[in-house]
Amino acid sequence: MRGFSFIGRASRAFHDYPSLSKLLVLVTVSSGGLVAYSETQSELGTHSGQASKIEPKKKKIVVLGTGWAGTSFLKDLDVTKFDVEVVSPCNYFTFTPLLPSVTCGTVEPRSIIEPIRNIMKKRGGEIKFWEAECVKIDSANKKVLCRSKHGKDLVGNAEFVVDYDYLVVALGAEVNTFDTPGVKEHCHFLKEIEDARRIRRNVIDCFEKAVLPTLGEEERSTNLHFVIVGGGPTGVEFAAELHDYIQEDLVKLYPMVQDLVKITIIQSGDHILNTYDQRISSFAEQKFQRDGIEVQTGCRVTGVSDRAVTVKVKSKGETSTIPYGLVVWSTGLGTRPVVRDFMEQIGQTKRRALATDEWLRVEGCDNVYALGDCATINQRAVMEDISMIFKDADRDNSGTLTVEEFQDVIDDIIVRYPQVDLYLQSRHLRNVADLLKDSQGRNRKEVDIEGFKSALSHVDAQMKSLPATAQVAAQQGAYLARCLNRIKECEVNPEGPLHFGESGRHQFRPFQYKHFGQFAPLGGEQAAAELPGDWVSIGHSTQWLWYSVYASKQVSWRTRVLVMSDWTRRFVFGRDSSRI
Ligand code: FAD
Ligand code: MG
Repeated sequence: MRGFSFIGRASRAFHDYPSLSKLLVLVTVSSGGLVAYSETQSELGTHSGQASKIEPKKKKIVVLGTGWAGTSFLKDLDVTKFDVEVVSPCNYFTFTPLLPSVTCGTVEPRSIIEPIRNIMKKRGGEIKFWEAECVKIDSANKKVLCRSKHGKDLVGNAEFVVDYDYLVVALGAEVNTFDTPGVKEHCHFLKEIEDARRIRRNVIDCFEKAVLPTLGEEERSTNLHFVIVGGGPTGVEFAAELHDYIQEDLVKLYPMVQDLVKITIIQSGDHILNTYDQRISSFAEQKFQRDGIEVQTGCRVTGVSDRAVTVKVKSKGETSTIPYGLVVWSTGLGTRPVVRDFMEQIGQTKRRALATDEWLRVEGCDNVYALGDCATINQRAVMEDISMIFKDADRDNSGTLTVEEFQDVIDDIIVRYPQVDLYLQSRHLRNVADLLKDSQGRNRKEVDIEGFKSALSHVDAQMKSLPATAQVAAQQGAYLARCLNRIKECEVNPEGPLHFGESGRHQFRPFQYKHFGQFAPLGGEQAAAELPGDWVSIGHSTQWLWYSVYASKQVSWRTRVLVMSDWTRRFVFGRDSSRI
C-alpha cells in the first residue's frame, strides 16, 4: 500500500518544512502593519540597526470570550510561544451543563464557575486578561475595539483598542427570541449564571405570592403556573429539575397550594427532545405525563404579556392564552451583535453564525479563527473536488480507478471529507469495494470518472452542521490550540495543497468532531443517555453515570469538590428555599 495514510506522517511533514528563516521574514514584514498603533513596535522601527540583537517579537493571539471554546483553547495553547491577551466581560468560566441545577438550588452558583485568572495562572506564561466587552472587530486593520463595563467609574477611557496577529473569536451565541413580542421584557432566559440565580429567586417569589391571604384561587393558580417555551435539552432539564424541587422540597413547605402547581412545556416540534434518539424522546414524554408535566407539542408562542403567553396551534391556527407565574424561554440560538456586525463587514450576511473552513479559519479574512456557538464549519463537498480526487488517485494515469487505487486514498479522503465515513457507516459498508459496485450490486474491478462520480453521488447528503454544544466548542478550542502551537513549523497554508499527490500532504488535519454521546436528565433520579455506537441507556443507573461524568468533567478540583458536596447536601438536607 502506498503512503497515503498521511496522519502518522503529519508530524514528520512539519520537520520537512524548516522554513523558520522564511517565517521570520514573514513575521517582520507582516508586523510592519502593526507599527501604526504599537509604541513598542515603532521604537523597534526607529532603532532598526539594533533589531538583529533583539529577540524576535512573539506573535500576539487575542482570544475573545472565556466560555467553553475560549477556555479550552487557553488550556491547550503553548503560552510560551505567543503573547496572549483575553477579552471577556466575564472573569470566570461557567460549567453550563449544570446551570439548570442552579435554578433550583441543587447546586450553588459558585460551585460551577471557575475564575479565569485561576485557569490562566495554572497555564504559567504571561496571559493578559481584560474584563471588557469586544464591541467591534476590525479584521482589515487587525484590531478589536473593547469597552469596559466599569465605564462610568473609570478615570481613564473605558474604551481601548487591542491589536492582534491571530484573533480567536469564541463569543458564543445569545438566545433567539424570533422577534416574538414581549419575550425580552417578560421571559427568563437560561444562558448565564445570573439568569439561573434570577429564576431561583423568582420561583420562590411565585410560591410566596401564591400563599398571601389576599389572593383568590385563580390568582394562586396563575402564580404557580410555570411555563417553559422550548422542549429541547435545556427546557426539558429545567422542567425536570423544577418538578423535583417542587415535589421533594416545596410541597412540604407550602402544603396549602400544592394542588395548584402546574408545569407546562410548549414545543413547536412534534416531540420534545427531538434531536435525541426517538426512544429517549418517547421515554421523556411518558415520564413527564406520569409526573403531571403538561407537554403541548406542535404549538408556537406568538406573544408574551406580563400575565399570559399567547399560543398558536400550528396545525389548526387556533390561538389561546395561558396565564403564567413564571416563563422560561429556551428556543435556539441567535447571533451576538458584535458577531453580526463582523459578518456584515466580511460579506457573511444571511447566516446565524460565522462561516469557517474545516481548519476553523473565518472565510473572507486572514488570521481570524472562530469556534464554538458563534461559528459554523462550511464543510467541503466531495463533488466539488471529484475530478481532482480521481486524478490523484489514478496513480498509473490509466483513466480508470481500480479498487486497490481507491483503497490507497480512502483514508485521506475520509479525513478531508468526513461525510464519506458517515456514508459508509450509514450503509454499513466495510469495504470501499462495496462503494464501487454497479447498480445491480455486481463487483467492479475498476471505474472511470463517471462511475466514480456515481459511486460517490449520495455521499454529500451526509454533510451536517455540528451541534452547538460544549463538546464541540471544547474540542475545537483544543484543536486550534494544537494547530497554532505548531504554526511556526508550517508554511503559509496550513492545510497544504488540496490534492493528495506525493508532495501534497495536509500539514494540519482538518477539524474532526468526535461525539462522545449526550445526556438528558429527566428528574426523579432518572436520566437518558445516547452513547456512541447507537447505544441508548435510560433509568436510574444512567443518572449515576451522569453524576460521574459531570463530576469528572469539572474544570478544577475545587469545583469538583464543591459540586459533589452540593449533591450530597441536597440528598441529606434538601434544597434551600430562602429567597436571597
Ligand atoms: P459560551 O460558552 O457561551 O462562551 C461565550 C463567551 O463569550 C463567554 O465567556 C461570554 O462572556 C463571552 N462574551 C460574550 N459577549 C462578548 C463580547 N462582546 N466580548 C467578549 N466576550 C464576550 N452543551 C453540552 O455539550 N452539554 C450540555 O449538557 C449542555 N448543557 C447546557 C445547558 C444550558 C443551560 C446551556 C445554556 C447550554 C448548554 N450546553 C451544553 C451548550 C454549551 O453551553 C454551549 O454550546 C457552549 O457554551 C458553547 O461554548 P462557546 O465557548 O462557544 O460559548
Ligand atoms: Mg488507474
